[in-house]
Amino acid sequence: MNIETLQRSTVKALVPYNPELLAEYRYKIDANENGYDIPLVARKKILSELKKLTFNRYPEAGSSKLRSILAKKNGVNPNNIVIGNGSDELIHYLLQAFTDKNDKIVAPAPSFDMYRILALTNGAKPVIVPLNDNFDLDEKAMILAAKNAKFIFLAYPNNPTGNCFSEEIIRRIIKAVDCFVVIDEAYFEFSGKSFLKMMSKNKKIIILRTFSKAYSLASMRVGYMLAAPEIIRVINKVRLPYNLNTVSMICACIMAKTNITKVVKKIRLDRDKLYASLKKDYLVVKSDANFLLIKVNNGNKVKNLFEKNGISVRMFKTGRLKNFLRITIGTPDENMAALKILKRGV
Ligand code: PMP
Repeated sequence: MNIETLQRSTVKALVPYNPELLAEYRYKIDANENGYDIPLVARKKILSELKKLTFNRYPEAGSSKLRSILAKKNGVNPNNIVIGNGSDELIHYLLQAFTDKNDKIVAPAPSFDMYRILALTNGAKPVIVPLNDNFDLDEKAMILAAKNAKFIFLAYPNNPTGNCFSEEIIRRIIKAVDCFVVIDEAYFEFSGKSFLKMMSKNKKIIILRTFSKAYSLASMRVGYMLAAPEIIRVINKVRLPYNLNTVSMICACIMAKTNITKVVKKIRLDRDKLYASLKKDYLVVKSDANFLLIKVNNGNKVKNLFEKNGISVRMFKTGRLKNFLRITIGTPDENMAALKILKRGV
């Protein structure tokens, strides 16, 4: 039996996801997580809820309690929301529910690679449009590529560059195209900018959010989609039963009611301070998120230096981002350790 030949043709060229992060580290600033764990009060509430957990029962299938908390928080109706096992799962469901074989999906690059990967695993055809020299959208090229496409995926702020694309360009793209425009707002809490208001008036717009970043819940895998009820209904047809486990649901309900403004403010301040220090010596992208993208001279050397100091970072090795380093804005100790290495002028 030749397993190679049995794969879906678009899966053949893929390699298993491996971000090459350090397994053991002193500091972890490689995955845009929140460097601050959840507050003690939230931890206590979660642990007290867990004591009462009925381990033998399936989770509540529709995550209704979490949906109703999120609906209130975002000024929408619960039927505008579906919960995913991370927003990754929701990207997968969108493609599974709406794309047929070889349907086009459009995404810019450099951006979050899961749009391309999940398009391929779902048999769709990713069309990748390079960002311009300022890492902003190429409006004409995006509109042209979106002809007969099913989706455009835009990370807002973008990962790994950290900037928000021009709002005006996005608005014009939305107007010009005849496909879904997914605005992935994974880092929304850090940017404060959203297309949610537009979503209520325009069925093309689908918003994705996550608890993995500002809400410090990366371990629990919780994301959510905000979209027209008709879209949510279609997603619920392909959504696996009980896709969100009870523990994650409990944690997300408690964190959704926790005020995270202080932590977010601190990260934004530290981000801007680090940006100002690094900008003197490096090309650094102005960031609306909780990470910075920095161009270094010798990527291998820099990565080794960080690793020798027990710091896990993300270094891009190929293509346009070769020798670009991405670091998460973490705790003051983490930020200081990163700055110390980069101040050596590498
Ligand atoms: N979108 C973007 C832009 C991201 O950077 C990430 C995480 N790296 C995700 C989505 C996925 O987040 P989640 O943990 O909710 O699957």
